[in-house]
Amino acid sequence: MNSSVDWLTRLVAFDTTSHRSNLELIDCIAGELRTHGVEPVLFPHEQEDGVRKANLFATFPAQDGRTEGGVVLSGHTDVVPVEGQDWDSDPFTVQERDGRLYGRGTADMKGFLAVIMSRLEAIGAARMTEPLHLAFSYDEEVGLLGAERMIGQFPEHGIQPASCIVGEPSGMRVVRGHKSINLFTVRFRGVAAHSSLTPQGVNAIHYAGRFIEYYRKLTAQWRQDGPFDDAYPVPFTTGGVNLISGGIAGNTVPDACEIEFEFRALGTVDPTPVVEQVRAYLFEVLEPEMQAEQPAAGIELVIKAQGPGLDTGADADVVELAHACGGHRTDEKVTYGTEAGLFHNAGVETVVCGPGEIAVAHAANEYVELEQLEACEAFLDALIGRLGQARA
Ligand SMILES: [Zn+2]
Repeated sequence: MNSSVDWLTRLVAFDTTSHRSNLELIDCIAGELRTHGVEPVLFPHEQEDGVRKANLFATFPAQDGRTEGGVVLSGHTDVVPVEGQDWDSDPFTVQERDGRLYGRGTADMKGFLAVIMSRLEAIGAARMTEPLHLAFSYDEEVGLLGAERMIGQFPEHGIQPASCIVGEPSGMRVVRGHKSINLFTVRFRGVAAHSSLTPQGVNAIHYAGRFIEYYRKLTAQWRQDGPFDDAYPVPFTTGGVNLISGGIAGNTVPDACEIEFEFRALGTVDPTPVVEQVRAYLFEVLEPEMQAEQPAAGIELVIKAQGPGLDTGADADVVELAHACGGHRTDEKVTYGTEAGLFHNAGVETVVCGPGEIAVAHAANEYVELEQLEACEAFLDALIGRLGQARA
């Protein structure tokens, strides 16, 4: 049980779909770390039905015992569901066909975790001048929840790494930038009435409709006026109202309408002013109008998920380090969000670099190429080697 393929087989066999527990997988990893003399810090997540999930953080100290600074290798342990997908083989049994390893999470992102696990002995034996840390999270696929909690608890555990490599599938390209994800729910609470008596009601759908039009114009403005960054496949901040429900009958003034809207902002764009702008329209324009009709009416805005963007400078140490370890150079930024933005926001210089392609990540017959795993092994071996020498 030492090669990365063995580890991948073992990790994929744990069904860690986000809505399930990840504790068995975490136990397995923690047990292995202990055999290499490292006691991991576990961050259990308390819920009403007990603890079903945990983050794991582990530090291999520098040769002089130092644990601050150094490099984090970060990855999530959860995977997306397989329900409704047409797989050619069991998604939780790794199968090799034509140089590819098929299975749920092989690319996103147990391949990266497996390569790390296969190198624990080498990491433990290296006489490193800087510490190497592992940060394994849960609930990444449902809004980066685990990593957000773990990074939030870094200060109380005295954890302050200098740089971080997030092993999301990037084809081993060193990705310096991605957009932020910002997802919201708005609930318009009107007043129901018979549709022949409109003055007695407040039409929640009509107010939702006004917001939708306001938001559509806002996103059209981003598209037209920028800011622009051509390193992204879609070079501006995008957004939309993507879900709506409301009303109960054709002859009833609806007292409820709920929508979900999102925006994905360039890594350099601060999402806060956008949220403030939307909030002002909802609560300074629409809600007073609703309440002028009937005081019982109102609006609720809920932040469903927010993942910060990533924008690491081309001259950052971690970029140089990743290139020196064999990560491929690219100026391309990506549209998918990752935990990298959270580390970046916490003051940790971060890049994304991992085996496999994001295009196959959430689909049926997800795979990672053996060649990609080998490239990642070489990357990690080079990293371990470099940490063994003084970095400038
Ligand atoms: Zn992922």
